Amino acid sequence: YTGKSGSRLLTERLTKLTVQQYQSIPVVVTDSSSVYDAICTMFLEDVGTLFVVDQQSSLVGVLSRKDLLRASIGKQMLETVPVSIIMTRMPNLTICYKEDLIIDVAKKLIEKQIDALPVVKNNNGSLFEVVGRITKTNITRAIVDLANDELV
Ligand code: ADP
Repeated sequence: YTGKSGSRLLTERLTKLTVQQYQSIPVVVTDSSSVYDAICTMFLEDVGTLFVVDQQSSLVGVLSRKDLLRASIGKQMLETVPVSIIMTRMPNLTICYKEDLIIDVAKKLIEKQIDALPVVKNNNGSLFEVVGRITKTNITRAIVDLANDELV
């Protein structure tokens, strides 16, 4: 017996969990894709957030379900409007790295009131390559894993 309280052990375990252990495969569309194509990709790939990349595969934007719904209630032509018109764009994106702690990602999701973060790799300064996706579902899985660990 270590003499540590259950909650101290739980905190220790929680603060060891990293993005790398819980991230999912990212689903990306290019910035020239139409809103219509993005909606199809969201359904086909069964994700709630799409990441938008440019010709150099560098992260330029994020599309949520509501971004696409909002675009769909206007009189715009879904087949001709590119996603670059409606996406949330750099530098307003909240990102993370695979080495980051799950608890810090959870804090960002709450603070920014968003569902997902792109996991990125820094290439040449300001260029971000998308290597993963971390969502509220991944965070929930981490919590379940912690609870399944015996705390003695
Ligand atoms: P929804 O809009 O479907 O409820 P979110 O809560 O994730 O989904 O998104 C809310 C808004 O925040 C959207 O406009 C979306 O583009 C934006 N957003 C989502 N994820 C991020 C992110 N990682 N960084 C910056 N903005 C984001």
